[in-house]
Amino acid sequence: MTQQSPSSPVLSVRDLAICFDTRHGPLSAVDGISFDLAPGEILGMVGESGAGKSLTGTAITGLLESPGRIHRGAIYFEGQRIDTLPQPEMRRLRGRKIGSIFQDPLTSLNPLMTVGQQLIQTIRTHLELSRDAARKRAIDFLAEVGIPAPETRVDQYPHQFSGGMRQRVVIALALCANPSLVIADEPTTALDVSIQAQILDLLKKMCRDHGAAVILVTHDMGVIAETADRVAVMYSGRVVEIGPVEMVVGDPNHPYTKGLMQSIPRIGGNARRLTQIDGAMPRLTDIPTGCAFHPRCPHAMDICRRALPERQKVEGGEVACYLYQEATV
Ligand code: SF4
Repeated sequence: MTQQSPSSPVLSVRDLAICFDTRHGPLSAVDGISFDLAPGEILGMVGESGAGKSLTGTAITGLLESPGRIHRGAIYFEGQRIDTLPQPEMRRLRGRKIGSIFQDPLTSLNPLMTVGQQLIQTIRTHLELSRDAARKRAIDFLAEVGIPAPETRVDQYPHQFSGGMRQRVVIALALCANPSLVIADEPTTALDVSIQAQILDLLKKMCRDHGAAVILVTHDMGVIAETADRVAVMYSGRVVEIGPVEMVVGDPNHPYTKGLMQSIPRIGGNARRLTQIDGAMPRLTDIPTGCAFHPRCPHAMDICRRALPERQKVEGGEVACYLYQEATV
């Protein structure tokens, strides 16, 4: 494996393109995504359903299933190219080096095993620890994620936990083998609103304490604003804006990001109705030419319908929009 300097990115995605093979030929679902993730950084990937953000996370973990496939680009994890690794090697990397947290904790936990058995199995698969030491680590992790009476709860089954407590267990499971990257895909969407903030705070604290970088996939700009260091806004398989959270959330550039921000409910806001972005994310069979956002964009120009805007550096990040490419307007 390539030696990494402390400042090297933990993850580099280069020109990643994912398609689905169909009877009528390949359909592009993700097209030319590039980004780096620094050690310990939390990158939020945000966009509506169908933007390609979950597919990107799935490709990084090597879990993309046919008819989906990577058809261009490369993924480097700690300096090693991983998108071409055979499945057994990728399986070893998952869990040990790359942890996952999904929307519904019930799909991540085996209902037939106690949470302790699942934690101990993960710990012993990836770390060389005796059974007793692994059990102690499992109890310590349950305590760390806020499970009361962890010495007792370790021997209970997932159905004996509430939804929020189960997601705490999943966070423990994702981090107990000391991964350097965690992919969290809509980790709070299935939870009661009253406990979403607690789980996000816990995720942030656990990843900071254990030095893990995070890709946080969500459709919710509010979640991003609370949790992420940097944000990649995705639309129709492309990153249309990327930058530090205070810039993208506080002063967005791309018309789509502005639309997402205007649709967040605000306590004390004086707007009677939330502004919504008219129209819907295009289907894979029907992606418009040029800028895919042009049918919904209030600023669309002729060139937007003809040619794809490239990502350009702007103050505080990068944006793919002709409004920021003066020479072409
Ligand atoms: Fe709107 Fe054109 Fe910018 Fe696309 S490139 S977001 S259509 S102004």
